[in-house]
Amino acid sequence: MTSRASENLSDLVRDGRLPEATAELEEVAQQFRIRMTAAMRDAADPGVDAQFVPTPAELTIRPEELHDPIGDDAYSPVHGLTHRYPDRVILHSTQTCEVYCRFCFRRETVGEDGTLTEAELDAILSYLADHPQIHEVILTGGDPLVLSPRRLGRLMTRLRALPHLEVIRFHTRVPVVAPHRITPELLEALRGSTTYMVVHTNHPAELTEEARGALARLADAGVPLLSQSVLLRGINDDADTLTALFRGLIRNRVKPYYLHHCDLARGTSHFRTTIAEGQTLMAALRGQLSGIAIPTYVLDIPGGYGKVPLTADYAQSLGAGRWRITDWQGNVHDYHDPDHQPLDTNSEHGQNKSGT
Ligand SMILES: *Cc1c(COP(=O)(O)O)cnc(C)c1O
Ligand code: SF4
Repeated sequence: MTSRASENLSDLVRDGRLPEATAELEEVAQQFRIRMTAAMRDAADPGVDAQFVPTPAELTIRPEELHDPIGDDAYSPVHGLTHRYPDRVILHSTQTCEVYCRFCFRRETVGEDGTLTEAELDAILSYLADHPQIHEVILTGGDPLVLSPRRLGRLMTRLRALPHLEVIRFHTRVPVVAPHRITPELLEALRGSTTYMVVHTNHPAELTEEARGALARLADAGVPLLSQSVLLRGINDDADTLTALFRGLIRNRVKPYYLHHCDLARGTSHFRTTIAEGQTLMAALRGQLSGIAIPTYVLDIPGGYGKVPLTADYAQSLGAGRWRITDWQGNVHDYHDPDHQPLDTNSEHGQNKSGT
């Protein structure tokens, strides 16, 4: 037994996650990086293995699959930054991760030596200073929590100095895949800012005792925790697995935030469900599972057009303020709007919502 990560095919064979390294797998390994942490090996579950152990199916590249599936490149004003929405940006603080997920939407670049230089960081900070409409910085990568607490602390200090930045958000898989990294030094580096953490996790077996401990340390330190998961065929595309995952997250003080439809990264079609399958699953959860445990099912529109909810339509407009509403059991009800003058045509955004 070793506590080191498995970083290639022979490691995976040695560590008991793969029977043998075939020629086809060698070909996969030449194209896409491999990394599985000891914590994820110890989970010892087929639903976890399938996320990190390569298969020959990755050699099947479908014509619709893309190098840059969510169109980040088109929205990069300075290296290391993606600015697609007016009020928030993504800061790619590193390209490396503790694990390499076989379905990763950034699998073409993830793992390259992309840690930002001081000059690149200066350019990012001055872009942020010049754009007071930006209220939130999302640190992602790669995985921002592979940076040392010292480095992270320095970055946080610089971000905190920008008065218009209200929130610093982390997108990370570390609390689950490398829970030992959630140390007092790291928690100290996060202090002093409004910090949200969105934890990427896809299967209930990932929530090991160690991972639950790391989530508890973060929650006890006052860091609000959310989750994002990817809907993965054969791994979590059934109501029981998703229910166990979302219940497990809630139990550990993590609010399920997004369930992503699997992006069009190259060699990932074996992981992708149809949108209709995803909607059927979400409908099955509604009513069966506490509302606070239900994430929004979203698609990142290929080409860089942003994320949209894929939630099935529960409200169908019949015109003249009349609606047909479907409940969680599939029964249909009438609903009437009040007879106000119609509001301006703001109906494209959140028409089913009654406010914030
Ligand atoms: C996903 C994403 C965000 C965050 O979107 P939220 O809906 O606020 O979680 C921000 N910027 C970019 C470029 C993104 O891809
Ligand atoms: S942790 Fe996230 S960025 Fe890293 S390989 Fe997995 S999906 Fe990609």
